[in-house]
Amino acid sequence: MAIAKEENSHLELNICHLYGNLLNTYGDNGNLLMLNYLGQKLRIKVNIEIVSIGDEFHKDDYDLIFFGGGQDYEQYIVSLDIQKKQDAIKRYIEKSGVILAICGGYQLLGHYYIEACGRKVSGISALDHYTLNQENSRFIGDVEIVSSETGEHYYGFENHQGRTFLGQNEKALGQVLKGYGNNGEDKTEGVIYKNVYGTYFHGPFLTRNTHFAYQLLTKALENKYKINLKIPISTDLQLK
Ligand code: GLN
Repeated sequence: MAIAKEENSHLELNICHLYGNLLNTYGDNGNLLMLNYLGQKLRIKVNIEIVSIGDEFHKDDYDLIFFGGGQDYEQYIVSLDIQKKQDAIKRYIEKSGVILAICGGYQLLGHYYIEACGRKVSGISALDHYTLNQENSRFIGDVEIVSSETGEHYYGFENHQGRTFLGQNEKALGQVLKGYGNNGEDKTEGVIYKNVYGTYFHGPFLTRNTHFAYQLLTKALENKYKINLKIPISTDLQLK
């Protein structure tokens, strides 16, 4: 069922910006601006709330989680606190909650992350990947991948030292055509598990990959309202 924009005005999307005051490097927050922009265009009300250190995470309060990336220092602080939220986040994931996790956030959803200095930082093992380090080197530059789900090409920028290896129940967000991706070895980039999307694409990834932004938005709304929401992607909604 295609829904015209006017019919959307009763729809509301509640976004949890997980540790948004600590993990927000390279303009990751632009993804939230993009979701908000699409919401406005489609007359869907978008509410964004930061859930951070010491806050409780209530899984039923949110339709979408955005979890950005950051430096090792902030990431370590978050890694300590997120252990207290891990049960609720795992339940959110298992009930098919939608998550977009970038770089450091993506790493912390897995088993562990090895910092540049070699210290092992615990993730929450909600997903089955793990992240090793590399000595005195980082993966920096433009990335292009082809999506394993849709065949679309996604474009972005990566800057990370961690090398992530996917586990058994995970599939890659896409295959690397240009850049390093998860680990510079196996040509995978990012992860998909249920409705969780992890990626090393930094910055306002969703502004450069509009279809993916729609996909996240519609999945979150379909979960919430149990409707088959087909938002027509007309040219006036595309960002050039
Ligand atoms: N600190 C992590 C790394 O270097 C994550 C970096 C980031 O989020 N940009 O791999």
